[in-house]
Amino acid sequence: MYNPSSLKAEEFINHEEIIDTLAYADANKDNLELIDQILEKAKERKGLNHREASVLLACDNKEKIEEMYALAQQIKQDFYGNRIVMFAPLYLSNYCINGCVYCPYHISNRHIARKKLTQEEIKREVIALQDMGHKRLALEAGEDPKNNPIEYILESIKTIYSIKHKNGAIRRVNVNIAATTVEEYRMLKDAGIGTYILFQETYHKESYEKLHPYGPKSNYAYHTEAMDRAMEGGIDDVGLGVLFGLEMYRYEFAGLLMHAEHLEAVHGVGPHTISVPRIKRADDIDPTAFDNGIDDETFAKICALIRICVPYTGMIISTRESQAVREKVLKLGVSQISGASRTSVGGYCEEEPEEENSEQFDVSDKRTLDEVVKWLMELGCIPSFCTACYREGRTGDRFMSLCKSGQIQNCCQPNALMTLKEYLMDYASEDTKKIGEALIQAELENIPKEKVKEICKENLAKIEQGIRDFRF
Ligand code: SAM
Repeated sequence: MYNPSSLKAEEFINHEEIIDTLAYADANKDNLELIDQILEKAKERKGLNHREASVLLACDNKEKIEEMYALAQQIKQDFYGNRIVMFAPLYLSNYCINGCVYCPYHISNRHIARKKLTQEEIKREVIALQDMGHKRLALEAGEDPKNNPIEYILESIKTIYSIKHKNGAIRRVNVNIAATTVEEYRMLKDAGIGTYILFQETYHKESYEKLHPYGPKSNYAYHTEAMDRAMEGGIDDVGLGVLFGLEMYRYEFAGLLMHAEHLEAVHGVGPHTISVPRIKRADDIDPTAFDNGIDDETFAKICALIRICVPYTGMIISTRESQAVREKVLKLGVSQISGASRTSVGGYCEEEPEEENSEQFDVSDKRTLDEVVKWLMELGCIPSFCTACYREGRTGDRFMSLCKSGQIQNCCQPNALMTLKEYLMDYASEDTKKIGEALIQAELENIPKEKVKEICKENLAKIEQGIRDFRF
């Protein structure tokens, strides 16, 4: 029954195959010879399959785990350098007709304040985000064909791209909305979205059906096959994720990798990103009511293994996680983080009064974007506001080949430095600016091609003179 090339959810995410995989992993978790072989294979940087990955996840030998962490750090460094791409979520509407039992947007929640931004309100939110320095957004909305039809999402994307406030601009809009039809994915593609993100929540069909008791999202197959429809609709960059805490993490991990293998088998390109959200406290949601919460150590191991198993896939961590957890996993392979996020509808312009709470969940990292940028640089990372790839048509397999060819360093490194420079000129505090300027000077040396380095230096000087938006 298991067939990674099938277009049927239950064949490419096959329950029996996952159960067999977990049994194989259990049987081999102390098989150091096999574990060494898998680690040797991982060093070739071509990834691992779900079976190999599951053996590493099951292994609890401290020495071997240290080796996994060291390898994850090395792969991160080789493919992504020390660049971390910045983004923020923008909540458009929390109207929703689904019954997801872990999400406060579920339709039977009568006390959460329901809000939907008008185009005028979106403008104000976007200006607030631009004034922080953001260039890349992830749009979020509940599923409600009457209140949030595709036309509303498309109009909102148009509004967002049209706003040019001072030197601000949103240059890439990623979209995290419910599973939809090929036709609507095509419309999103035509509207110029970056990545289409959809979390699977859980790959375990039986649990999925319990956790999504009614509403369009209750259809496991329709949800699980969404990325195939998105790709059929022309979207090259898709973002996967599971909501850790809902089901047994080892099951989810195997399912996630099988999903990535499926996309590679059918479309010739794996997921652009993988997100690793963990369930959080929210309006009428108590995360302890779910039995499968994972501790920080297991979470870090999952992040490290994702980095090893799908080296070319970006990894995203949100402000659901604390500063301390974010710091730990940054080294292990995370390549994108959000900063200064608000999960309420309209939250960037105004603090909500207690009685009008529209938040999706509590955030743990509540720092400002300037604080996050400064902290990243103090950790030796380069905060990058780059959006060049998709604007230059480097999506899907073209992005992957940039990654695989090693040319990434001649593209992403200067783009990161130039967009950081824009941030420093337009939005940074004095302290952040000082650290950033020194960092840029030092990091220019890590651009391999002399010619590219020279152009980058010239562009940095032009940014000082007020010109914006250079890219390779
Ligand atoms: N309605 C769309 C959908 O169904 O995919 C958009 C998703 S929602 C705005 C974004 C994500 O938030 C969900 O996919 C879910 O994984 C996550 N989420 C929901 N409730 C959460 C909670 N209590 N804690 C953490 N994340 C949560």
